[in-house]
Amino acid sequence: MDTENNSIIGKKKTEEFNHLLRSNKLKVTQPRLRVLEIVSTKTAAISQPELEKLLGADIDRVTLYRILASFEEKGILHKIFDLNGTATYAICSTKCTEHHHHDQHVHFICSVCNSVYCLNEISLPKINLPSNFSLHSIAINAVGLCKNCQSEVQ
Ligand SMILES: [Zn+2]
Ligand SMILES: [Zn+2]
Ligand SMILES: [Zn+2]
Repeated sequence: MDTENNSIIGKKKTEEFNHLLRSNKLKVTQPRLRVLEIVSTKTAAISQPELEKLLGADIDRVTLYRILASFEEKGILHKIFDLNGTATYAICSTKCTEHHHHDQHVHFICSVCNSVYCLNEISLPKINLPSNFSLHSIAINAVGLCKNCQSEVQ
């Protein structure tokens, strides 16, 4: 389970997030900071309902929806669909910019707990397209057992 950040890490993170928001021309607001804080402490991608649960009454549903949409548009978060087709969100690589995602990595989805992980270290294969086809993005999902579910099986 997630442990609370100690205050030094917490402070450094907040500065980082302030910078991230400002460099994307987004006003620094408490709800935006809270969302970034939660997403960045998770090892797996997180869905809107999960975020709602963690945020409690801090942010209403419409605000959260708008925050996620703007973060996705700005290249701060990318969206991955889990096995139920629910959208989950993970933090982007620094290469992502407005309207331009460069998260070219494999996503691992656990068939037991449905957690989505970004496998940043695995690069995608080169796709040789037929002539006159042009490539915009590649999405590869690997499905199997995650570390936590694996250890329960053994
Ligand atoms: Zn991205
Ligand atoms: Zn699992
Ligand atoms: Zn990812």
